[in-house]
Amino acid sequence: MRVYLDYNATAPPAPEVVDAVTQVVRDHVGNPSSVHAFGQRAKALVDDARQEVAALIDADPTEVVFTAGGTEADNLALRGAAEALEAGPRRRLVTSGLEHEAVLNTVKALERRGWQVTRLSTSESGIVDPGALRQAIGSDTALVSIMHANNEVGTIQPVAELAAIAREHGAVFHTDAVQSVGKIPVSVRELGVDLLALSGHKFGGPLGAGALYIRRGVRLLPYLTGGRQERNRRAGTENVPAIAGLGVAAAVARKKLASEGPRLRQLRDRLESDILRLVPGTAVNGDRTARVPNTTNIGFDGIEAESLLIALDLEGIAVSTGSACSSGSLEPSHVLRAMGHSTARARNSLRFSLGAGTTDADLEAVIAVLPGLVTKLRGLHRTAAALR
Ligand code: PLP
Repeated sequence: MRVYLDYNATAPPAPEVVDAVTQVVRDHVGNPSSVHAFGQRAKALVDDARQEVAALIDADPTEVVFTAGGTEADNLALRGAAEALEAGPRRRLVTSGLEHEAVLNTVKALERRGWQVTRLSTSESGIVDPGALRQAIGSDTALVSIMHANNEVGTIQPVAELAAIAREHGAVFHTDAVQSVGKIPVSVRELGVDLLALSGHKFGGPLGAGALYIRRGVRLLPYLTGGRQERNRRAGTENVPAIAGLGVAAAVARKKLASEGPRLRQLRDRLESDILRLVPGTAVNGDRTARVPNTTNIGFDGIEAESLLIALDLEGIAVSTGSACSSGSLEPSHVLRAMGHSTARARNSLRFSLGAGTTDADLEAVIAVLPGLVTKLRGLHRTAAALR
């Protein structure tokens, strides 16, 4: 039996998405910028997808720009807004220490270009305190970037409150909502954000398709220059099959949000309580209430999470030690460190992320082997320590 519990890294595409992408690749040859009927049919596919993505996040379709995924959407948001804002006197960016590398490293690039950066850490809750933003923000702050749901621990940030603080101070607010869109209801209007990044492959869409919401009126310069696609905000011939697939994934997610959320929450809570009950020396990382319903991140005292990941993989069970982009680096999770956890805790924590295909049987398979594997690894760890 193979058990996939790494949906935050990527979620397998929904069957409707596979059908749509296949059909578009096979049957549609036009370039959406072409005037002829082939081109116009391709353009209609992109327009339909734009409507669906806009509906999923409560935006107007004209405010949605397609990108090649979440990383590009974050880059377009931060680099594009920063470049537009550089015409003014403000040159400070406030962000959090919990961000994904797509934001973290883009912010570092802006720092090299002369931006001042303030990074907010959190308590062990993994939730940014709006009071901390209020203290950090000033008349020199042009941009604030704080993610919606964290990819490693799943905590949901109080984005509406944070965005309101940014607005009061005249700063542009960006949120990386790659791990929340499609999992929980997301309304750009209720959140009051200026820029919001999402990625299709995190909620059953194809890889390589994402979008950036750009609130009407927010100034942003394109960082991919070329043709006039996407209203001059993202040049390059559109990836029509992937965009069409993203549109279908958005429609499917919107229809299933109300039922999938509670289903996954129940499964996740059961997995979590079984692990805490059956494996001593375990603890959940981050706030257990303000969390996306599919994610749990658990510390296992006295082991290296990487070893447990490999042991589970040998049993056919896929989990993760953190973000897929940084796994393999053997660096302790920067997210858990920003939450104030020790290096040891940051190295002994595993993420289990569930999704559309997850069943009771999957969780039973995990629970059947996990306690034994942890006991074995702890024994090996103790022996290795004694020999040192
Ligand atoms: N932001 C977050 C929070 C993520 O979890 C990820 C992917 O892991 C990304 C951005 C990058 O998205 P993509 O893989 O579509 O480039």
